[in-house]
Amino acid sequence: MTDLQPVRGTRDLIGEEQRRHQFVVDTASRVAAAYGFDEWEIPVFEDTRVFARTLGDTSDVVTKEMYTFDDRGGDSITLRPEATAGICRALVSNGLTQSLPQKVFCAGPMFRYERPQKGRYRQFYQAGIELIGPAEPVADAEVIACGWDILQALGITDDIVLELNTLGDRESRLAYRQALIAYFADHRQELSADSLTRLERNPLRILDSKDEGDRRIVAGAPTIAAYLTDAARAFYDGVRENLARFGVPFRENPRIVRGLDYYNHTAFEFVTSSLGAQGTVLAGGRYDGLVAEMGGPDIPAVGWGAGIDRLAMLVAAPPPPRSVAVIPVGDAAETAAIGVLQALRRHGVRAEMAYRGNLKRRMERANRTGARAAVILGESEIARGVAQVKDLAAGTQEEVALAELPARLR
Ligand code: ATP
Ligand code: MG
Repeated sequence: MTDLQPVRGTRDLIGEEQRRHQFVVDTASRVAAAYGFDEWEIPVFEDTRVFARTLGDTSDVVTKEMYTFDDRGGDSITLRPEATAGICRALVSNGLTQSLPQKVFCAGPMFRYERPQKGRYRQFYQAGIELIGPAEPVADAEVIACGWDILQALGITDDIVLELNTLGDRESRLAYRQALIAYFADHRQELSADSLTRLERNPLRILDSKDEGDRRIVAGAPTIAAYLTDAARAFYDGVRENLARFGVPFRENPRIVRGLDYYNHTAFEFVTSSLGAQGTVLAGGRYDGLVAEMGGPDIPAVGWGAGIDRLAMLVAAPPPPRSVAVIPVGDAAETAAIGVLQALRRHGVRAEMAYRGNLKRRMERANRTGARAAVILGESEIARGVAQVKDLAAGTQEEVALAELPARLR
C-alpha cells in the first residue's frame, strides 16, 4: 500500500496542534467542574433513531450530514453528529430521570459529512455541558455563564460576542411559523430548492440557511418578537436579567435559530470575527422536549456544545513539555541511571533516558529535544551518591545528592 492519507475531512493531531486541543478540553472540563458538572462518557455510535427523529428531519445534520450505515447484524447505526441526543438517551437508559438535576460534561469526536474547509471537518471535536432538570431562566443564564467563563479562561473573549435569541414556547412558534410561511411564500421564486422544501415542512429552518440568495430574503423576514406569548416573553426577560447578574455581556440577534429542531426558548451562539464563515465557537439553547422524545418523562434541559477545533485555532499554544535527560557515563552507571530515572518519574518529573552515544552526543541530543536539564552520572559520582545536574538553559552545572534529585528537579 502506498500513499495512505487520512480520509478527507479528518486529520491527525500531533505536537502543537494536539497541545492546543488538549488545553481547550482541559480548560472546559476544569471550569465546568467548578460549576458542578460531572463528566459522562457515552458511545460514539448509537442506534440511528437516537438522532434521526430528535434532531429534526429537515435539519441539515439529518438530511445531509450523518454517517449512517447498517452494521453486520443489519442494525442501522449512526456515528454521533452531536452529543446532546446521546446524553438524553443515556439519561433514560440508565434510569436517571428521577435523579434530577443531572449536570453533564461531555467531550469527544463528532462526525458530520460536510464540505471540509478551515474550521469545518468530518471528524471534529466538541466539549459541552447539559443541565437537565431545571426549568427556570436562571439555569439558562448559568449555563451560558459557564461557557463565557471557559472562553475567558482561554483568554479569547476580546474578540467574541454572545448572540442571544428566544425561540419562544410552542404557541409562540406556531404563530411565528404562520407569519414566516406567509412571508416566504411571497418570495418563493427567490428561495433555494432546499428552502422551498423547508417552507413546506419547517419554515424556521430557512432562517438558518447558508445560501447567499436565501440570506438576502431572510434579512427582511419578520422576527419572533411580535409573536411571543406573555409566558415566553417573561422567560426571555428572566434570561436577560440573570445574564446581567452573572455579568455576561450579550447582543440580541433575532436571526439565531440553531441548526437542530429540539430547541425552544433560549438560543445562543458565541461568535468570533476571526475565523471567517466558521465563526461560531460555542452554541446551544434550551431543549425542553428532547428527553420526552427519547422515551423519557417530560424533563426540561438546557446546554451547549463548543467547537474544540475552532477554539484551538484561537488560543495561544501551550509550550511543549520539557524533560530531564538522564545521561549515564560508563557501563556501571547504566544501572544507577535507571534507578534515578524511575525515582524522578515516581515524583512526577518528566524524565527520559538518553540512549545512545558518548557524553557529547547525548548532551547534543538532550539540547536538541528541548530538555531543560541533564543529569549526568559517572562512576565517581555514583561512588559518592551524587549526580551532576546541568541546567541546559542557563548553562550552569552543580553537584546534587541523588536523594535530593526529585525535589530539586520537580
Ligand atoms: P455551523 O453553523 O458552523 O455548521 P452548527 O450549527 O452545525 O454549526 P452545532 O451543531 O451547534 O453547529 O455544533 C456546535 C459547535 O460545534 C459549532 O458552533 C462549531 O463550533 C462546532 N462544529 C459544528 N460542526 C463542525 C464541523 N463540521 N467541524 C468543526 N466544528 C464544527
Ligand atoms: Mg452545521
